[in-house]
Amino acid sequence: MAEVLVFVDHVDGAVRKPTLELLTLARRIGEPVAVALGNGAGDTAATLAEHGATRVLTHEAAEYADYLVVPKVDALQAAVSAVSPAAVLVPSSAEGKEIAARLALRLGSGIITDAVDLEAGEDGPVATQSVFAASFTTKTRVSQGTPVITVKPNSAAVEAAPAAGAVEALTVAFSAAATGTKVTARTPRESTGRPELTEAAIVVSGGRGVNGSENFAIIEALADSLGAAVGASRAAVDAGWYPHTNQVGQTGKSVSPQLYIANGISGAIQHRAGMQTSKTIVAVNKDAEAPIFDLVDYGVVGDLFDVVPQLTEEINTR
Ligand code: FAD
Repeated sequence: MAEVLVFVDHVDGAVRKPTLELLTLARRIGEPVAVALGNGAGDTAATLAEHGATRVLTHEAAEYADYLVVPKVDALQAAVSAVSPAAVLVPSSAEGKEIAARLALRLGSGIITDAVDLEAGEDGPVATQSVFAASFTTKTRVSQGTPVITVKPNSAAVEAAPAAGAVEALTVAFSAAATGTKVTARTPRESTGRPELTEAAIVVSGGRGVNGSENFAIIEALADSLGAAVGASRAAVDAGWYPHTNQVGQTGKSVSPQLYIANGISGAIQHRAGMQTSKTIVAVNKDAEAPIFDLVDYGVVGDLFDVVPQLTEEINTR
């Protein structure tokens, strides 16, 4: 069976959920071989093996933390040479997409970004994408070189599938460009205690209907009752009620959670572009004609200032 490289996103050896989802998808198209780089790379092996990695290629070097993405691209290119995989899968984070694009260029390969599903095809892996502001769902296949595919978080379930997970050292010779851009400082964002928006299993968003930054407290309360991330429409962000880092949509972040709850959001095409692939969509809107209701699995026609606190209270009592 062909091997499939999976780029491991981890923090000091703690594997992040999108990588475990990639392992689920990788198993559909071949045998997953994980590539873990940087501080703690070796510590990822047990978790990766539990989720189906047959081999874990590791390389620890300061360059991965001290410089931007090029050292990681060098390492993935070395892994491609060593393994000759059927595909390379990378999480669709900002960094992941940059790594994937640079790798595809180096390999002379086609790239598919922001896939939401993956299946085996006769001529290679077939990816499902949501394109043109979510107006169409397409099935795409790379026809040149080793397919490089980035996959959106929450596109697959995390599944235990114990495998050998044999740890092997990867030999990497860094290119001249690897040390081109040095990271001089890292300033961690103040933690809200909520999950990262693009990785959260549940996202609770507020729009213009929230009517003021102070009222976002009720959106946050609902989010906290569900362990969710908070999102916002551009109208709410432009009004200065919530930070741009939380904007969902065409010019914000793209999310694909299990559950998306839109409160006081009309459902403009540019907002839908960032959330339409959510598995279950719920909207609270006082206008029964709001376009968001064309999209939802469950819709509540009502004033969010009545509905949301009741919902939060109900969830908190369970
Ligand atoms: P509105 O469209 O004003 O809708 C507010 C909704 O709240 C209404 O449906 C109303 O019935 C409801 N409401 C009001 N009060 C209540 C209440 N008390 N209880 C319940 N419901 C209530 N938008 C994005 O979101 N993300 C993007 O990334 C984005 N990118 C864009 C890029 C471009 C190039 C352009 C041109 C636009 C972009 N937009 C984006 C803007 C987009 O077109 C809409 O203007 C925006 O999404 C509207 O936000 P909204 O739904 O919060 O506001």
